[in-house]
Formats: sequence, C-alpha cells, structure tokens
Amino acid sequence: MSTRRIFLQKAGLSTLALSLPFANSLSAMNTDKEDKVLRVAIMGLGSYGTRVAEAMKDCKRAKLVGVVSGTPSKVETWKQKYGIPDKNCYNYETFDQIKDNPDIDVVYMTTPNSLHKPHCLSIAAAGKHVISEKPMALNAAEGREMVASCKKAGVHLLVGYRMHFEAKTLEVVRQQRAGEFGKTLFFQGLSGFIIGDPTQWRLDPALAGGGAMMDIGVYSINGARYMLGEEPTWITAQEVKTDPVKFKEGVDETITFQMGFPSGAVASCLSTYSLNNLDKFYLNGTKGFAEMQPSTGYGPIKAWTNKGPIEAEHITHQTTQMDEMAAIILDGKKPLIPVDGEEGLKDLVIVDAIYAAAKSGEKIKLG
Ligand code: NDP
Repeated sequence: MSTRRIFLQKAGLSTLALSLPFANSLSAMNTDKEDKVLRVAIMGLGSYGTRVAEAMKDCKRAKLVGVVSGTPSKVETWKQKYGIPDKNCYNYETFDQIKDNPDIDVVYMTTPNSLHKPHCLSIAAAGKHVISEKPMALNAAEGREMVASCKKAGVHLLVGYRMHFEAKTLEVVRQQRAGEFGKTLFFQGLSGFIIGDPTQWRLDPALAGGGAMMDIGVYSINGARYMLGEEPTWITAQEVKTDPVKFKEGVDETITFQMGFPSGAVASCLSTYSLNNLDKFYLNGTKGFAEMQPSTGYGPIKAWTNKGPIEAEHITHQTTQMDEMAAIILDGKKPLIPVDGEEGLKDLVIVDAIYAAAKSGEKIKLG
C-alpha cells in the first residue's frame, strides 16, 4: 500500500474518531486498521448462532472468540470446535463480567426476540459493542431504549441485516438510486414459510413478541424501505388466521399490509407462517423493473431486471456481513444501506403500526 494511502487512511480515521460518539473505542484501535480483527462472542448457541459461527470461519476481519450460553454441554462442544478459551465463556448470569475481559469487542445476540432488549442493555453497560439479530426488539419503545443505552455507553448497536451486504441486492439498489427503473412507484414483498414444531419459542408470544411478522415479515418491511429508498408515511393491514390453536392470541399467522411513501410509491406485502416458497421482491418503475426470487433466503439470491439477469458471485451472507460489520466498528465505515440501531428502530415503528392497523382496521399515519 502506498505511503500516501496509509497517510490518508490515518488522517481520515483521526477525523472520524473526533466526530463520532464511538471515539473511545476508535481511538484505542490499532492504526494499521486492515490488520485489526473484530473479536466476537456469540450469545445463544442455537440454529442461527451456529450458522454465524460457521460463516465466520471464512472471515478476514471478524473472529469468534467467546460464547454466552445457558447450556454447558454446548459450551464444551463450541470450546473444542472453535478453540474458545475458558476465560471467554459465560452464561446469562455471569456475562456482565465481560466488562473485565479485554479480549472481546462485541457480543452478537442470536437469542429469542424478547431477550434482545434486556441483554443489549447489559452488554452496553459492560462497555461492549452489540449486534442484535432481527427483529431488534419486540416493539419501538424497546428499540428506542436500546439505541439510547448504546449511545450513552458509546458503543455500536448493529442489527444482523445480512441482505444489506448482498451483492445482487446492492446492485438493484444501485440501479434504483441511479434512476435506471425511472420513478419507482410499486414494491411487492412476499415473505413466508410453513412453521413446524408448535412448541417452539417462535410461537410463544412472550418470547417472540408476535408471529410471522416478527420473524419473516420484517424482511418485506425492511426490503420495501431499501428498495424504494424512502420511509413510509401510512400503513394499512389485514390479518387472517386459519389455525387459532397453533397461532394463539398474540401470534400472527398471516398479515397482508400496504405502505404509502412520500413519492407516491406504494408497497403491497404478505407475511405468513402458512405458505412455503414465499420469498420474492418485485420493484416496478416508469422505465423498468427488478425482480428477486429468492430475495432474502440464504441464497444464492436470484435477481433480474428488464435488461436481463444480475450476475454476482454467491458469498455466504453472514461471512460478508461480519467482515463488513468489523469495518463499521473498527474503521468507522458507512454501509450503503445502514445496519445500525436507528435502522432497526425504523422497522419496529412500522411493525407497531402494522399490528395497530390490523387490529383497528384504520389507516395509520407515520412520521
Ligand atoms: P434457536 O431456538 O435455534 O436458538 C436460540 C438460542 O437462544 C437457544 O439455542 C439458546 O441457546 C438461547 N436461548 C436463551 N434463552 C432461551 C429461551 N428462553 N428459549 C429458547 N432459546 C433460548 O433460534 P434461532 O437461532 O433460529 O433464532 C435466534 C434469533 O436469530 C432470533 O431473533 C431470530 O429471529 C434470528 N434469526 C435470524 C436469521 C437471519 O437470517 N438473520 C435467521 C434465523 C434466525 P443457549 O442454549 O446457548 O443458551
């Protein structure tokens, strides 16, 4: 690397360190920033935590170094499998001691939704950065608390929005922002799968905070916002329940919802736990269209426009996500589509409005 480039990077970094609330963590970082690795502890060693851990094996800038778990047998397995030292292993009662551990930078919460807020507050109080899985919290009020606590502690709060780093998604977004589809006036988002085991936490409102909307519908909400590049000003929604035993009070099975945007664009979306093969985004403008199917699954994502297919190499989403999150936390990099707590909060405001609209039948105004 040229001396000039190194100089510019260092100069850019010191300017950034002065202007961001994360100055403390940035100022302490190694100035050879491309060598610095984000040291991650995963909290909740379940299905998604395992996927993230496996994906991180291929990361250049992020490394799994610790765990927080309520299951000692899993901790033993993970210690062996990922070479995690005893001193970096915690349970839910002891993890506030992480504040005294200089070898962990960030805790990635891959736990049930209702645990995100209380654990985020504890992690922030321990002075560590937080990555939360989606949905960031159960509602906007909790989301605001999380954003405020991380800001107060001077730590980053990021949300595991892996699609924000996916190459075909980014190309569609680039073309939309460049006006290649003309004025984009319509988005369709279809998000669903048939949920299995009726005893799982996803169907327990106390742990999930809702049903399909919290789990999979959030992809259509988030997708509408990044595909159109606007924030909605009104919401309408309708709920349908075909199985009130499996989908008890407080657990939505199927919700259709519509969002209106300042430009006049509208989004029409479906969130369900009762249909498979439902993973599609469609964006239409006055000059062209983009279609993605699958649009948010683990990939490979397929995308095409009126000009033909979009080609890009498939990289495991969570590998790219964690390398990019390392750059955000360690270098102050700004992603094209944000993944911070404010971004997570915007989706939660919409989730609240969708539930309110479905319950009341009213059009809910936002903003
Ligand atoms: P799992 O049930 O597979 O794992 C959750 C883990 O959390 C458990 O294994 C357990 O780990 C821990 N846990 C702590 N308390 C509880 C509790 N009361 N009940 C159940 N588990 C508990 O869930 P997932 O991994 O599928 O989902 C976790 C989070 O990740 C959710 O917020 C979900 O929305 C999100 N997710 C995101 C995806 C994405 O693509 N971005 C995909 C899938 C999920 P331990 O025993 O170690 O304590």
